[in-house]
Amino acid sequence: MSKVFNFSAGPAMLPEPVMQQAREQFVDWNASGSSVMEVSHRGSEFLEVASQAEQDLRDLLAVPDNYNVLFMHGGGRGQFAAVPLNLSTPQQSSLHLVSGSWSKGAVAEASKYNQAKIIGEPQIKDGLTFMPPPNPELIEANAAYLHFCPNETVDGVAYDWLPESNGVPLVADMSSTILSQPLDVSRYSVLYAGAQKNIGPSGLSVVIVDEELVGKAQSVTPSIFDYSLAAKHDSMYNTPPTFSWYLAGLVFKWLKSIGGLDEMARRNHRKAATLYNAIDASDFYQNRIHPECRSRMNIPFQLANADLDSRFLQEAEAAGLKALKGHRSVGGMRASSYNAMPLEGVTALVSFMTEFERKYG
Ligand SMILES: *Cc1c(COP(=O)(O)O)cnc(C)c1O
Repeated sequence: MSKVFNFSAGPAMLPEPVMQQAREQFVDWNASGSSVMEVSHRGSEFLEVASQAEQDLRDLLAVPDNYNVLFMHGGGRGQFAAVPLNLSTPQQSSLHLVSGSWSKGAVAEASKYNQAKIIGEPQIKDGLTFMPPPNPELIEANAAYLHFCPNETVDGVAYDWLPESNGVPLVADMSSTILSQPLDVSRYSVLYAGAQKNIGPSGLSVVIVDEELVGKAQSVTPSIFDYSLAAKHDSMYNTPPTFSWYLAGLVFKWLKSIGGLDEMARRNHRKAATLYNAIDASDFYQNRIHPECRSRMNIPFQLANADLDSRFLQEAEAAGLKALKGHRSVGGMRASSYNAMPLEGVTALVSFMTEFERKYG
């Protein structure tokens, strides 16, 4: 197999050592003669996998003891429904910062279950997309929660600030940024992430929730989305996505082995800087996001001459640089550089871009 670097936005590449380990254990797991996929989620062997994964995730993020860590079904979008169902009544407001297409999707879903309101949207600053903090006057003190997405996967918009919410619980969709850098969990009431970007295979979502907010779900909430049932049953109210959970556990161990989230953040900063520097150094390529709001995980860029897009993608693919096509709603290119992407992949992309510009620029 020749070396390829997969820049897919999700499902995305997984760390190679994890894939190797999963392959070795695939058919005969722990010398049990079975695959981890073939055993009961209630058996002692799987329970050990499950609780170890939770513990490792708690260690990595320094999750305080008064937070539940839940492994749920339904990916990121499942939580677009689970959050309003668990945290609000139909009469209550939920406040939303809409910085791109995923946070927009979250408002649409929340509107089915509560009075969802948009209180912040991107602006154009210096000709570039910029996400400002919300106007404090729009924070209703009795709103159920304030939802935001610190890293917009499609648009490549990210911000490191936390909204001033005047005591309204903060809920963050971290699907494409969780575990990419250290985080102070105590400042959020709920963090959630679909797994298929920085955690493991699709089908799983991780929810970290302040236990004070658990137990108030609307009565219509599907049982599998009810945080209190999930917490009470150790995320096994029904059969969880066991293989995804197991693989997430391997990813958590890998993160610990490389030095945890400080080291991961260092690598992610370096990769993103390498690519943005290359884009900024050339008129042939451009990124239209304000430098203060640029994502480190998902880096969209456009060719000055869009007629060359398909040629760029074709030649990149032939050079082993895969899945660089931008989301259909944005166009151009997008390089997703999650935790599993090595620096080597980004430098290979930059070399390719330099050479492509030399040929066609
Ligand atoms: C991918 C993604 C989602 C949706 O995840 P699904 O698992 O496909 O439902 C939601 N939010 C963000 C920020 C994402 O990147």
